[in-house]
Amino acid sequence: MTALHDMTVAALAADLRAKKISATELTQHFLARCQADNSGAFLSLNPEASLAQAKEADAQLAAGTAGTLAGVPMAHKDIFVTTDFPTTAGSKMLEGYRSPFDATVVRKLGVQEGGAGMVNVGKLNCDEFAMGSSNENSAYKSVTNPWDTARVPGGSSGGSAAAVAARLVPAATGTDTGGSIRQPASFCGITGIKPTYGRASRYGMIAYASSLDQAGPMARTAEDCALMLSAMCGPDLDRDSTSLDVPAENFARDLNASIDGLRIGIPKEFFGEGLAPGVRAAVDAALKEYEKLGAKLVPISLPRTELSIPVYYIIAPAEASSNLSRFDGVKFGHRTKDYTDLVSMYKRSRAEGFGEEVKRRIMTGAYVLSHGYYDAYYLQAQKIRRMISDDFQQAFQICDVIAGPVAPTVAWKLGEKADDPVANYLADIFTLPASLAGLPGMSVPAGFGEEGMPVGLQLIGNYFKEVQLLNAAHRLQQATDFHLRQAGGAK
Ligand code: GLN
Repeated sequence: MTALHDMTVAALAADLRAKKISATELTQHFLARCQADNSGAFLSLNPEASLAQAKEADAQLAAGTAGTLAGVPMAHKDIFVTTDFPTTAGSKMLEGYRSPFDATVVRKLGVQEGGAGMVNVGKLNCDEFAMGSSNENSAYKSVTNPWDTARVPGGSSGGSAAAVAARLVPAATGTDTGGSIRQPASFCGITGIKPTYGRASRYGMIAYASSLDQAGPMARTAEDCALMLSAMCGPDLDRDSTSLDVPAENFARDLNASIDGLRIGIPKEFFGEGLAPGVRAAVDAALKEYEKLGAKLVPISLPRTELSIPVYYIIAPAEASSNLSRFDGVKFGHRTKDYTDLVSMYKRSRAEGFGEEVKRRIMTGAYVLSHGYYDAYYLQAQKIRRMISDDFQQAFQICDVIAGPVAPTVAWKLGEKADDPVANYLADIFTLPASLAGLPGMSVPAGFGEEGMPVGLQLIGNYFKEVQLLNAAHRLQQATDFHLRQAGGAK
């Protein structure tokens, strides 16, 4: 019999419905695994609250009022506000903060009326305010990669990816501003999708760069991601004005559709110098697999790929510097004990509460927005952002989806890039373009590269084409077994 923690969200949901297992038993099983874990993936657990949610899910299952995923345990990135757990965004600034409300995504996935019925077992570690690519910017602790504990799990949703890969939870939420769902999914050998910008409400998701931030699911299979995404999306216009006024969809509806004739665009800029040979080999093998399934590979160009790095690292810090101004020790966040007047209180509170990378971005953001530099940096970046979107539309004239690597390398060693912010920024090159364009993108396990570490294949779709992406991902997963391998199993 398959161990409970080896089962998918889909299989667990079916067994719960068939009353083969209860939400309470299942929650206890996963809680025990989370409590025994020492990877640093969790920032908080609250067994009492989780078991209360499980009890509610069991009652809904018994009464026949249960949501689609009732009783299946999961965990949220600690950037979604929750009433049952503290929410820190990985920052000392918010240590011990308790939100008086649940984020829309939390509500939609949870046991509240109208929710999918999933049980939240805890809050997952992340880079501070989601700024980072290795989880080492968490103010609390680093997370180790379950495939090699000397390596990072990726970031910023590093806790989410590590927890799913180590089977501490069957699924988790993440957020992606410039790659934070796709890159950790790739580094930890799991599946993750960032939907079209605006599909999932940002209400209650602590803001980093509002024009880019987007929530999405992380799980082992594309099917599980599709099921969760169906529950997470939908308009929330009263609370998030950028949430799209398009109804929620059943993203799992075409998982098994044929991909015969699917045109997969291969951007030449994603395969240049700097791509690790092992990553390239795994991506090439996945593309061959697609050809066997009837897909056609079409060479394309995304000529401004390299520019996405300076553009993103202007726009994201600019928005961050504005979003993070609310953490002043009065409206929100840590307040210093040591001050003489109001201004010194603001200054010291922020100096004590924020970590180094966050401060770096606030300063960069304030600089590029300042009088005299706004036109040269911020405005220019916005113009190139539009050109990057246009390049994608050009490409989608001749292909249906775009495929390439998620990241130039496999997960690096803990500490390897910790003192070099630019090295971290450069490693985001392949995830930033889709973020800047607001396009849906995902990472699908595609094998193993250097040192036996997982490699993700990135699939990028046009706006609203999540169904097509998930279909392509599911078909690859039916033809391969990378997503089923256990951490350590590749060596
Ligand atoms: N690594 C990128 C950054 O540090 C992306 C982070 C994210 O998507 N939240 O900004």
